[in-house]
Amino acid sequence: MIYRNLGKTGLQVSVIGFGGMRFFNKREEEAIATVHRAFERGINFFETGSYGNGKSEEMLGRALWQVARRDQVILANKARASERPTAASVRAELEASLKRYQTDYFDIFNFWGTNTPEMHRHILEHGALEAALQAREEGLIRAIGLTTHARPEWIRDFVDAYPWECIILKEHMLYSRNQEVIDYLGSKGIGVVVMTPLAGGVVATPSEEIRAEVAREGLTPAQLGLRTLIANPNISSAISGMTSPSEVDENVEAARTDGPLTPAEQRLVDWIRQKTQALGERFCTGCSYCMPCPQEVNIPGIFRLWNLMRGYGNAEYSKLEYQKIREQRHWADFPGRSVEHCVECGTCEEKCPERLSIIDDLKRAHAELTAQ
Ligand code: SF4
Ligand code: SF4
Repeated sequence: MIYRNLGKTGLQVSVIGFGGMRFFNKREEEAIATVHRAFERGINFFETGSYGNGKSEEMLGRALWQVARRDQVILANKARASERPTAASVRAELEASLKRYQTDYFDIFNFWGTNTPEMHRHILEHGALEAALQAREEGLIRAIGLTTHARPEWIRDFVDAYPWECIILKEHMLYSRNQEVIDYLGSKGIGVVVMTPLAGGVVATPSEEIRAEVAREGLTPAQLGLRTLIANPNISSAISGMTSPSEVDENVEAARTDGPLTPAEQRLVDWIRQKTQALGERFCTGCSYCMPCPQEVNIPGIFRLWNLMRGYGNAEYSKLEYQKIREQRHWADFPGRSVEHCVECGTCEEKCPERLSIIDDLKRAHAELTAQ
């Protein structure tokens, strides 16, 4: 495992980090085994928040303290920036998270989803930042930062307005939108962490043609995706949402080589980017912020199938799985309901960090996934 300084925080994080958004949806024994394997394979950086009404924190804490001492791991946690936080709400979220995690402090505390200039201003001006600074005085947290889906120019403005110590942002192999701002953050000594580095699994599940080409370089698509990110020394860690011990092993292998991409790896990345242009600049990355849908439409699941078909040429599988959703077959990989049940209420669109036109895109996805 490769370890890097997280900006000027004094923390040394593993270049592959453990993202806690999805692992807890598995059977408890498998979820715990996944965390144990991550720790055994040298992952020391664990990031989560109150996903699953706190289940992620509870399970991560429970699993970690079976195998690790507190000083062997670096924990990042967060309080929501999206709901106009106050000093009291930040404090309450922090205390609840510490309790669920069974720990006395977090190494990094972030304002979660600071996606617009208004949200950023609100944090600075309405007590949220003061609450975090107070918690730091008390030793409950150490570094303070942001997680964000904001445009690159806004992220620049955020770090110019306040000396945040860590920024968690989105970047992946199929669409490199934040490259310049990542280098800017690096030049200012701010720790950069990449979230959803495999675009919600889309990078990891390509067509057989792409998989075979990548295999010729001795890599899996997930490993190439991670290599693409950690090849940039300004990225301290890519936090991947691993959900099984074998996924941990696969991801950790990506960190056996440091340094820039080889010419052969770069050629592959360029070729894949060209092939996946159909996905466009913005596409669903499966974050699930739009959920729950009052009609139980499985928005991320349907978009995932659509992405696999458009970008990665997995039409047969995608159409079959979508048909299972439509027929509500209980063994479908993706539970929930199909697009026919959408009543166009619009609540999902307000919550999408990718600013997708979800209603229109769902209609397009339905048409293409049901075409003969
Ligand atoms: S617009 Fe459709 S998909 Fe979105 S929340 Fe409403 S019913 Fe669900
Ligand atoms: S539609 Fe938007 S909010 Fe919903 S899962 Fe996809 S990216 Fe996330």
